[in-house]
Amino acid sequence: MIIKNNTLLCLLLTLAVTVSNTGVSAHTLTADFGEKASFDVLHYDASLTPDLIEKAIDGRVTVTAKKLSGGKGPLVLSAKYKTAIKVTSDDVKLSYQILDDDLVINFHSPLTVDQRFSVDIEYHAAPKRGMRFYPDHMFTVYHTGNWLVSHADIADKASFDLTLVHDKKLKTIGNGHLVSQKPAAAGKVYSHWQQQTPIPLYTFGFALGEFLQQSTAYNNQAVNFFYRPVQLSGLNREKIKDVFADVPDMVRFFEEKSAIALPNKQYSYVVVPGTVAQEAAGFSMVGEKFAHTVLEQPGENWFIAHELAHEWWGNSITCAGFSHFWLNEGLVQFMVAAYQQHLFGEQAYHREIKLALARVKKVVAKGRNAPLAFDTEIAEQDINHSIVYNKGALVFYLLREKLGEQHFWQALKAYSLAFAGKSVVTDDLKQVFEQVSGSNLSPFFQRWVYGEEIPVIKF
Ligand SMILES: [Zn+2]
Repeated sequence: MIIKNNTLLCLLLTLAVTVSNTGVSAHTLTADFGEKASFDVLHYDASLTPDLIEKAIDGRVTVTAKKLSGGKGPLVLSAKYKTAIKVTSDDVKLSYQILDDDLVINFHSPLTVDQRFSVDIEYHAAPKRGMRFYPDHMFTVYHTGNWLVSHADIADKASFDLTLVHDKKLKTIGNGHLVSQKPAAAGKVYSHWQQQTPIPLYTFGFALGEFLQQSTAYNNQAVNFFYRPVQLSGLNREKIKDVFADVPDMVRFFEEKSAIALPNKQYSYVVVPGTVAQEAAGFSMVGEKFAHTVLEQPGENWFIAHELAHEWWGNSITCAGFSHFWLNEGLVQFMVAAYQQHLFGEQAYHREIKLALARVKKVVAKGRNAPLAFDTEIAEQDINHSIVYNKGALVFYLLREKLGEQHFWQALKAYSLAFAGKSVVTDDLKQVFEQVSGSNLSPFFQRWVYGEEIPVIKF
């Protein structure tokens, strides 16, 4: 997600109002159910039938998890916007309660530590958020908990099998790769997508619609573009080619800076109406309005780079909690500025940094300053998005200035390699940058990351 041109995008648009309740309710449950249990959610296997007219989905999901050491509490999953819930395990009905937006599942007998188990949940969902329906297409946006019965912990990654049942004239885009397409009754097909590497829950997603498709390749990796016909989108084959012309170069740039190949061996952009910019693992949704802007001003391709950069920083290397959210968004904003520098030169880099500084000043002038990171947990609704995105980018700029080209990029590579596929806290980044540069960065982090000072930057 991104904040630019007064538009709040990506994860952020719906953040404050969508999922924060899950954590809050879990605390309430602790009081009701005794010592809080902890679970490691391993895998989701979902079969969903979207209904574009009813703006709803019917389906079932099998959640496979492992009990960790901890209390005897129930398994708590998101029930937001879900009805007609039926919960079983090995075909035996389990009792459950719905408390606020939580589905609280009780087990017949206590689970032992390390015990692996699966729970099947059938449900109907008519989400007011998290899914956008149109007559000819639909797609998911932040947050997965609105449409999938799922856990809330951002640090607990899981793999995902998704089978969509849909009209055969529609194309699907999902996480990972398309395993198979098989005929179903009444002119429908089953499209089975599989994401084998565990990913954070908010990057689960799919799109479905009467899309046209074209593709390009970079190092045997496919980059696909899905878009609506010209009479609906104003975009045709040539325009799509122009809008996304730099994507292979972007992949090359982020691969070089991270020393990690594009995680999924393929990437797709789904171009949808309006001003959407939403990453999922392996693909993203980007707005038609932005695509048209790029056709007139090629320098405005930031959203294409931003969502792609999340494949490395955000989707693969994920902040372990919202106290460290700048490791997702601040770093990606900085990487977009660095890419602009690579593509258009020094002035473009300075323009991005100046823009970030102006946004920070604006939010501070409104009395809404905050540290970039916290030693204690913060709730999702307490994130200061403008600080996280913009001051986050500025702090990476300052770090680059301080350490110099060689150490900075070497450290970023070391950090990316060390934490690929993992969840990170601010100290993980600090330690790697200290090791590589041989500098004590405690004063720097105290001042710029944990403090509220606004840097003075002059070009
Ligand atoms: Zn983002």
